[in-house]
Amino acid sequence: MRRGREQGLERKLMIEIGGGRPVVGVDLGGTKIMAGVVAADNRVLGRGKRPTPAKEGGPAILKAMLECVDEALAGAGLTRGDLAAAGIGSPGPLDTGGGVILHSANLNVRNYPIGPELSAALGVPTRVDNDVSVGGYGEFILGAGRGYSDILAAFVGTGIGGCLIMDGKIVKGATNNSGEIGHVVVKVGGPRCGCGANGCMEALASKTAIANRLVKASKKRGYPLGEKIQRKGRLKSGDLAQAVRDKDPIAIREVERAAYYLGVGLGGLVNVIGPQVVIIGGGVTEALGQPFVDLIESSARIQIITDPDRVIKFVPAALGDDAGILGASLYARDMIARG
Ligand SMILES: [Zn+2]
Repeated sequence: MRRGREQGLERKLMIEIGGGRPVVGVDLGGTKIMAGVVAADNRVLGRGKRPTPAKEGGPAILKAMLECVDEALAGAGLTRGDLAAAGIGSPGPLDTGGGVILHSANLNVRNYPIGPELSAALGVPTRVDNDVSVGGYGEFILGAGRGYSDILAAFVGTGIGGCLIMDGKIVKGATNNSGEIGHVVVKVGGPRCGCGANGCMEALASKTAIANRLVKASKKRGYPLGEKIQRKGRLKSGDLAQAVRDKDPIAIREVERAAYYLGVGLGGLVNVIGPQVVIIGGGVTEALGQPFVDLIESSARIQIITDPDRVIKFVPAALGDDAGILGASLYARDMIARG
């Protein structure tokens, strides 16, 4: 008992010597909430995870989020009183100044002040920002973007998110909403996108787009992966990767097609922006690995006329699922640093 307490005190001392108290970073997603208690040296001391009660509204989401934070604190051997600040990466659109989720396609939430609510419950200042910006910032500081000042990041999952950082700063544009690379049109007259337009990168290359094509293939002729997607209501990135490893020609064709359209969009953006590195992440990329990044780069290179010496690198994201919690913890720490 005494030993446990001494170890606890020793741990706290180590964290404080590390240059400040721990913060908590929260990654609020459409299917799961993850929290990480993060020390000043960016080590994750404890983690928590809960399914997102997406249909139940703001208060239920807050409750699940607090359970996640408490689980992460327990894992770190700490309590709420040990935290200096909190950061949340959330789907949007958001009022980042007020910490409010205005509405969300994936959460049944309207004008919910998630930042002030979490702040009141934990007794610490809380910052909320767009989930993709937060993940991109995590990769920029601690992952595949380390050592660079200009990055373009694309996260390929259920949708396609993007984050542009120039001169070390996230580019948000005049409306605070820019960075939406998933809605660059890559095929005029292409399939309908969730945003209402046609032929967006997201409508051709996201996991949802790939799943739709695989289901279509199974209607023409019996196709096990397509039937599985219909049964489960979704495509798991792991199943797609397994099908590619099994040399399933339909899965390979669809992955190549998605990579082609990602390359079309990213190649065009590279010509305009000239980043030092293009970071490609998200669940689909993580499951398919380097070969997927290589396919995207090959397609992009056909478009790129501004980099004959291939100075610009295409690399996979490095932090996986941790990008969100680490990025949110960095946002929290930046907030304290700025006072
Ligand atoms: Zn769109």
